[in-house]
Amino acid sequence: MSTPIGAHAAEPQHVLSEYESLPEADLHARISAAKQRLGSRLVVLGHHYQRDEVIRHADFTGDSYRLARQAAETTADFIVFCGVHFMAESADVLAQPHQRVILPDLGAGCSMADMADADDVEEAWEAILETHGDEAIPITYMNSTAAIKAFCGRQGGLVCTSSNAQAAFRWAWERKRVVLFLPDEHLGRNTGAALGVPLERMSLWNPRFAPQRSRALLEPDSPLVLWKGYCSVHQRFTPAQIDWVRKEFPGMRVVVHPECPYEVCQKADAVGSTDYIIRAVSGSPAGSQWAVGTEIHLVHRLARQNPDQRVISLQPNVCACATMYRIDPPHLCWALENLADGAVVNEIKVDDDTIRWARTALARMLEVGADAKRAGRD
Ligand code: SF4
Repeated sequence: MSTPIGAHAAEPQHVLSEYESLPEADLHARISAAKQRLGSRLVVLGHHYQRDEVIRHADFTGDSYRLARQAAETTADFIVFCGVHFMAESADVLAQPHQRVILPDLGAGCSMADMADADDVEEAWEAILETHGDEAIPITYMNSTAAIKAFCGRQGGLVCTSSNAQAAFRWAWERKRVVLFLPDEHLGRNTGAALGVPLERMSLWNPRFAPQRSRALLEPDSPLVLWKGYCSVHQRFTPAQIDWVRKEFPGMRVVVHPECPYEVCQKADAVGSTDYIIRAVSGSPAGSQWAVGTEIHLVHRLARQNPDQRVISLQPNVCACATMYRIDPPHLCWALENLADGAVVNEIKVDDDTIRWARTALARMLEVGADAKRAGRD
């Protein structure tokens, strides 16, 4: 029997530790049963980088922004996000007032998002405005906390994805002379370089340095200040791995995500977002060969879904996103059975002021996308 919506304030009925030793088959059966009990009041989201045992229970799969939007368009009361913390925050930012967002394991963070702390960013912003006058706009990558998205909204800036970063940079430079890009140094450098900014004209703000030291490193005529953050998965790809592929598999094409270092992106045959990578591989004819530089679960899935092609990871030893990997069938089952029995566990709640400004930054991203489409770019 299902529990009425208003009853979801109960104490948790189930203890996580009881799920950890359950056989895999039982977990899957219980997850399916809990989903059935919750019916249309529940939507389960599975990020592309999740393991298959979790993806099989997802109602939608995709990248973080698309998933957050899709969930907000449903009538579900509960959005269970199988992803990492910033993704669940984005879902809450975009959610309808009655929707509640759950992250099955609160330990599922993102090393990149965690590298841009809101206080550190305020400190950097002050220094940038002192150096550049009022001539700066902040842009944050979708992979950032809601607090950083809200900071960008308040300061006249916006959010971007790896697909629309170039359009966002152009939009900003049409308004101000300097862009502060958060929190991924590599996506910022790759985007700036693609738009013609010489590497030596890019400044780097390292939040691990004392602020005076980073301040002294700001170039007065630099159009781009990069935040020194990175993805622990994509940072591991190297140009030497591409050399190895070229030698071992002649004719194999290399496609990488733009969170990879500049030297890797320069050497690859193609660079693009997760969606771009999926389209590139899935749209290739039988017999094609790909070395893919992104998270390993996605690479394995691509290989399975395209059995008539040869798809390998650019990095021979596995590179999973360790925090994303924390979401597993025991956590999912525990969260869903509690929900079905009236208790919301691991809810992710963003405060109203942060939601307001984060939405402002996201709305600017959508405007930029519409402008770029009208202008025939991106
Ligand atoms: S793959 Fe990288 S950017 Fe994505 S969640 Fe993991 S650490 Fe964060």
